Amino acid sequence: MIKAYEQYEVWFVTGAQLLYGGDAVKVVDGHSTEMVQGLNDSGKLPVKVVYKGTANSSKEVETVFKAANNDDRCIGVITWMHTFSPAKMWIHGLLQLKKPLMHLHTQYNKEIPWDTMDMDFMNLNQSAHGDREFGHICTRMRIRRKVVVGHWQDDNTLERIAVWMRVCAGWADAQDMLILRFGDQMNNVAVTDGDKVEAEQRLGYHVDYCPVSELMAYQKKVKDEDVAALVKEYFALYDHDASLEDTATEAYMKVWNSAKAELAIRAILKDKGAKGFTTNFDDLGDVDMECNYFDQIPGLASQRLMAEGYGFGAEGDWKSAALYRTVWVMNQGLSGGCSFLEDYTLNFDGADSSILQSHMLEICPMIAAAKPRLEVHFLGIGIRKSQTARLVFTSKVGTGCTATVVDLGNRFRLIVNDVQCIEPKPLPKLPVASALWIPMPDFEVGAGAWILAGGTHHSCFSYDLTSEYWEDYAEISGIEMVHINKDTTISGFKKELRMNEVYYMLNKALV
Ligand code: MN
Repeated sequence: MIKAYEQYEVWFVTGAQLLYGGDAVKVVDGHSTEMVQGLNDSGKLPVKVVYKGTANSSKEVETVFKAANNDDRCIGVITWMHTFSPAKMWIHGLLQLKKPLMHLHTQYNKEIPWDTMDMDFMNLNQSAHGDREFGHICTRMRIRRKVVVGHWQDDNTLERIAVWMRVCAGWADAQDMLILRFGDQMNNVAVTDGDKVEAEQRLGYHVDYCPVSELMAYQKKVKDEDVAALVKEYFALYDHDASLEDTATEAYMKVWNSAKAELAIRAILKDKGAKGFTTNFDDLGDVDMECNYFDQIPGLASQRLMAEGYGFGAEGDWKSAALYRTVWVMNQGLSGGCSFLEDYTLNFDGADSSILQSHMLEICPMIAAAKPRLEVHFLGIGIRKSQTARLVFTSKVGTGCTATVVDLGNRFRLIVNDVQCIEPKPLPKLPVASALWIPMPDFEVGAGAWILAGGTHHSCFSYDLTSEYWEDYAEISGIEMVHINKDTTISGFKKELRMNEVYYMLNKALV
């Protein structure tokens, strides 16, 4: 069990009916209890499953779904139809269910007992038709849900449930998410902007502006001894030149300033209950005599706060900040790590053509291949060009998935691209953290499809999350998703975009 999800539960509701008598329902109840126990004991599921009994009537369905809506611990509901549970009895409940739904098409018994099977056995193993009746009403009612098919003890089934649970956790986390914008969007940028009202209604999170002057009030309150302790922590955690520890140097002061900024940002985020933030290099506080301003964008702070789970988006990119937080939550306990990244520069190299992923400073150290290196260099962008500290590293080699959300005016589109992170080369003159990847199916089609879809230069990357996570996320949120993968062709992808245009136009009219 992973600690990050300990506050959450997923409810398990078994559909049945009294046609076969109370004794049959009692046996079904016993089977369900054993199945839920088995799910929890498998060690494969990150969220505890709580069995909520059999639902035998419309009233019982409504009662348990209303309870799910009102219980903050419950982040999703799994339904399984043991029997031919007539689906009209699910209508009133489904009309009200607000939590993510998974329909598990499984059966208590694994293989048919050919020689002994009789009608009593049949009465207790009816999911084959019961789950179809339930599926029909969900489809007829246009209920968004995940359908997982497989025996409840099979690894593949458990893995698919685990994916959905992680997405439910990310979704639940986003429903009271606050993102603070320190400074506005970077002037004139279109793709990172969007409709914050629609985002709150559709995706759950709330975005507030926070004047940098308010952040500077926290900067003012940071204690020197806390800064000293954090600087010491940096030196213990990260590789660095020994000269950086010389307190008489400018470089040391820059590390000190970075630590002070980190403490100020963390303090204000904690105070306001925010789960993420954005920065803007043109808004760093007014210079005053007591140094209560940032001498450059707080890049090191952003790197470390991302690793801690705070959402981050550069240049006021609040959509990326919120999405990164969700990625981090879904990624809890998985080994590869995740980061905010930017398409930085292109490397044309035939079949190995790739995109360098980086940012001026703000890459999460969770994706580092080796221990990050703390360095201080000049950064000549923004209102205050200055030397500043950052963690420098290259990322691990391996497959991953990157995602972004864009606002198309009438809807949000989630764009997902499978990528292959390849061995990066050293960048002696560009001391930033970076990854190097080939977007699937190859650079030409991958980058072309991303651009046709209107994707950002910013995205949220993970080594661990696959497109299945994003499919579940899109299903829960009801937003459009396009997935660029090994099978993508430009002509096919363009058709999909055109068809989606019509679908979402009609869908909007229906809602
Ligand atoms: Mn950027």
